Amino acid sequence: MSAGVVDLRSDTVTRPTPAMRQAMAEAEVGDDGYGEDPTVRELEERFAELVGKEAALFVCSGVMANQVALRTLARPATAVVAGRQSHVMAFEHAAAARNAGVQLAGVDDTNGWFSPDAVRSVLESAEHHQPPVSLVCAEDTHMFSGGRVWPAGSLGAVQAAAGERPLHLDGARLFNASVATGERPAERAQPATTVTCCLSKGLGAPVGSVLAGPSAVVEAAREERAILGGGMRQVGVLAAAGLVALRGIDRLAEDHARAAALAAAAVERFGEAVRTPVPETNVVLVAHEAPPRLLEHLRAAGVLAGTVAPGLVRLVTHLDVDDEGLARAETALRTAP
Ligand SMILES: *Cc1c(COP(=O)(O)O)cnc(C)c1O
Repeated sequence: MSAGVVDLRSDTVTRPTPAMRQAMAEAEVGDDGYGEDPTVRELEERFAELVGKEAALFVCSGVMANQVALRTLARPATAVVAGRQSHVMAFEHAAAARNAGVQLAGVDDTNGWFSPDAVRSVLESAEHHQPPVSLVCAEDTHMFSGGRVWPAGSLGAVQAAAGERPLHLDGARLFNASVATGERPAERAQPATTVTCCLSKGLGAPVGSVLAGPSAVVEAAREERAILGGGMRQVGVLAAAGLVALRGIDRLAEDHARAAALAAAAVERFGEAVRTPVPETNVVLVAHEAPPRLLEHLRAAGVLAGTVAPGLVRLVTHLDVDDEGLARAETALRTAP
């Protein structure tokens, strides 16, 4: 990051740390298309163990992880239940229809999660001339509600409502949820058939997500990844950074503390317009009548922020935000127009 600027647009803006770059330079590699990259295998095994699944697959992005999961678990010409503001529904270029041939059935996720009753209602609709449901997708933490975590037991209840149908967990920020609740990632992901996490968000890796699940499902997902052109070769150079990233999970607590401080400064200036007065993880949302005016003020003060919807400004903390950057952002928020 250039001196004098703190970038809070997203937790994807981090640069690889010196430890990551060193691990990348020294990584043992092979052709992953032949299953011969030892560093990729190590990352996949380590991740599967962390989230309590049999196997895992390294993919180039969170979107690819979700799209591969949809192609693997959902049947074309069926409905997939997902939160209306979830990434898979609202932030993936409407890709599900194209890549998996499914229709997304949106349920209310205003509070960051959705209820088993909402799932049951969509399932029941199939008895009334509406499409059958082949998959349910949940997101933890849930970005659009301000990085909120699913309350204890709620994902299990959704899984029970889904019955025999698989449940995919978009856990791009699952480790943030885990750190915020003190629950192990494997416990949080337990109700899900498949789970994906981003290595390239708050954990700071330059590239990559991992998708985990039962061995047979992951083998099918490997084929779907190939179909999407996502097979990679000596990609241990990237997996090596991912392995370093996974050692930094506990550090996410610092991002949460800085987000709390940021939100407190925002409340001083904007009061109830702050959607996340006490953020659960690393996302701060502020409703504003003229976001370009606020963003320009912040930018002039060396603070980059962004928007995720009309009238909704987002600031996200991550590995590259230190206390100096936090202080600059707090001051800029307190003096905002
Ligand atoms: C960022 C994000 C993704 C996509 O990850 P990319 O690596 O940017 O493709 C998927 N789901 C959620 C919840 C995310 O926040």
